[in-house]
Amino acid sequence: MKAMSNEHGAAPRFRRTWAEIDLDAITWNVEKSKEHIAKANGHDVKMMCVVKSDAYGYGAREVAKHLESIGVDYLGVACIDEAEEIRTAGVRMPIHIFGDTPASEIGRLLDMDLDQTVHSLAYARALNDAAAAYGRKLRVQIELDTGMGRMGFLCEEDTLEQLAEEITEVVRLPWLEPAGIFAHFAVSDDPGIVESEDYTRLQYARFQKGIEAVEAASGFTFPLHHCCNSGGIAFFPHMAMDMVRNGIITYGMSPMADAVGGIPAMTVKTTVSVVRTIPAGNTVSYGRTFTAERETRIAVLPIGYGDGLVRLMSNHVDVMTPYGRAPQIGRICMDVCMIDVTDLPEVKAGDVVEVYGRNITAQEDANRSGTIAAELTCCLPARVPRLYYRGGELVCDEQRLLQR
Ligand SMILES: *Cc1c(COP(=O)(O)O)cnc(C)c1O
Repeated sequence: MKAMSNEHGAAPRFRRTWAEIDLDAITWNVEKSKEHIAKANGHDVKMMCVVKSDAYGYGAREVAKHLESIGVDYLGVACIDEAEEIRTAGVRMPIHIFGDTPASEIGRLLDMDLDQTVHSLAYARALNDAAAAYGRKLRVQIELDTGMGRMGFLCEEDTLEQLAEEITEVVRLPWLEPAGIFAHFAVSDDPGIVESEDYTRLQYARFQKGIEAVEAASGFTFPLHHCCNSGGIAFFPHMAMDMVRNGIITYGMSPMADAVGGIPAMTVKTTVSVVRTIPAGNTVSYGRTFTAERETRIAVLPIGYGDGLVRLMSNHVDVMTPYGRAPQIGRICMDVCMIDVTDLPEVKAGDVVEVYGRNITAQEDANRSGTIAAELTCCLPARVPRLYYRGGELVCDEQRLLQR
């Protein structure tokens, strides 16, 4: 059998459902975030872009390579395997692992030149011992828990003394190289809610006091202090400190992206398989949750929850046909779903349909189905090819199912 070519210029292949990723939109979103922060602070800060969970479903390899090429300072990932995928793709820039990595993985942490989060004294000691045995210093970032209630050294008014003591010990461990200190906001993405805004300000004040106590006690000044996620960037840009951790804004989704002038960087498309007419009174799909009130033209789309169109969106969202919006009807199946095109008589088999993107945003779908946009794009599986565009040109056609 002749090998199929994925290179630009090859004959177009049949696609049932695919995702188009506009790398220029990602560049735009990073630039807009920088402008927003510079406007609030009068100067630039460093930019980390978060590419965990396969770059929020956008594809970590291509997104990371692109972010490196446009001069982003840092990448953030959740775990060491995500870091390895990016290093394997040839990306050399600094990578910070947010999650826990067992000290037994020290060789991989050092060989891939990664920043590991340190969240407790016991863990710092274990990493130090492992690095000593390996004979090389490990770069670490200290996490403070200022109210996220997840990981990190507890950092509140009445724990400052213990905090200063413990972190002084950490920064003096000979085989650790402290590259930064950071905290994470719990409700920075809740603009206009007074209680949430107060809580973010409290978290920020705790972080400032924690840093002050730690740096005074140890005599060590961390090269990087950072606490802003996308909510922080959008709504509390004066809290940017030395660096921000830009997640969902990078991809142009969420009210935070809107607040900085970002644009959606992904469009999910599919093609109409067949158009059929069913009589009034018939029902559509599993569970019979949609009953045709009139004679109804339905179009079958080859996209289901096995393609990332999560089932809880059933009966809640619209898609964009070439002739206008059409509501999705009935339960979303694993491989297909149905839309009502009774009022769009032009819709026919083979038409390209935008499931979400610039016209109908992932954010709109998320709002209508009770989730957040990041969850929708994180659900895009290997079955959905990812096509990357830069300057209007297709630069990468990632067919994961066909990769060996
Ligand atoms: C996920 C994550 C981010 C990015 O969050 P967004 O809200 O998508 O910007 C930043 N920092 C840490 C520690 C995270 O886990």
